[in-house]
Amino acid sequence: MRPARALIDLQALRHNYQLAREVSGAKALAVVKADAYGHGAVRCAQALQEQADGFAVACIEEALQLREAGIRGPILLLEGFFEADELALIEQHGFWCVVHSLWQLEAIERSSVRKPLTVWLKLDSGMHRVGLHPADYQAAYRRLLASGKVAKIVLMSHFARADELDCPRSTEQLAVFEQARQGLVAEISLRNSPAVLGWPQLGYKEQASDWVRPGIMLYGATPFEQVQAVAAQLQPVMTLESKIISVRELPADEPVGYGARFVTERPTRVGVVAMGYADGYPRHAPTGTPVLIDGQPSRLIGRVSMDMLCVDLSDLPAAGLGSRVELWGKQVLASDVAACAGSIPYQLFCNLRRVPLLYSEG
Ligand SMILES: *Cc1c(COP(=O)(O)O)cnc(C)c1O
Repeated sequence: MRPARALIDLQALRHNYQLAREVSGAKALAVVKADAYGHGAVRCAQALQEQADGFAVACIEEALQLREAGIRGPILLLEGFFEADELALIEQHGFWCVVHSLWQLEAIERSSVRKPLTVWLKLDSGMHRVGLHPADYQAAYRRLLASGKVAKIVLMSHFARADELDCPRSTEQLAVFEQARQGLVAEISLRNSPAVLGWPQLGYKEQASDWVRPGIMLYGATPFEQVQAVAAQLQPVMTLESKIISVRELPADEPVGYGARFVTERPTRVGVVAMGYADGYPRHAPTGTPVLIDGQPSRLIGRVSMDMLCVDLSDLPAAGLGSRVELWGKQVLASDVAACAGSIPYQLFCNLRRVPLLYSEG
């Protein structure tokens, strides 16, 4: 059997969720969209079910998958519905629903829901992707309440630049939010992972009954480029690993792999690893990207191909056929691999495919 696999440490997942709660002092919706960032939404939600105040997903298809697997807590649709006819299922399953546009508000007003909905009313406080304009926010709030179709409204917005620790934009967005919600008495939800980890000052208006929305931090990866103290307490959840399936000794000046993108500078022992971009390993990871071989640091060499990649065994005489290779995990951080490849850990995780996910309780 091909040795490529992703080990998922559910104990680490629970640790990270707990950290989100503790550092925020608020309730936390575990964001498990995109199959829990590639970690397997059902298994991750099951592992968090006892602990979690609720879950958040991108669409009703993802929400239904969780309900069908027996997840009973609140599930928020982060973009609400895409078509008005989803409202029947939203009502039936009790999903919580973001309203980010006037057309959604109008669809709720026109709908025939009888069990009043929980709506998260999203303000565009400056990211300018989705969300209501500040000038429309209070009116939308009142219309939803007046519709008779809504039992509860949570006030929500999203930060565009919370991963930049020296950037004033998040504080400006908070001010826009505070202005727009003046006089409304309702729970609020603003912070994603970087805002939870790096911006305690953005949470100063949060009560224990308010909500944070941690995603990437649950999976133990930092959203920051620089070292950050709270993020250092995260435990990586996924270990992507495989084995060396072939070894060769090359003299100096020999090319390795497609395009001869690496040429040996000295006599080099090359190991071939059963892992490639078809597994989601980033094709743009360059020579020098860190890997761990039998616990020893080494580097990627040459171009990543579809099913295989090459590593440098020259300084690891004990390593060879069958040696275990960690592509990312507890020692080689996904965020470091991502930085080498011009990507982010979010994308590395979401791109994972073909490799079996193996779960452990840690
Ligand atoms: C994906 C998402 C999150 C989680 O973001 P992270 O950076 O992964 O913590 C939070 N809120 C919204 C609206 C999202 O779409």
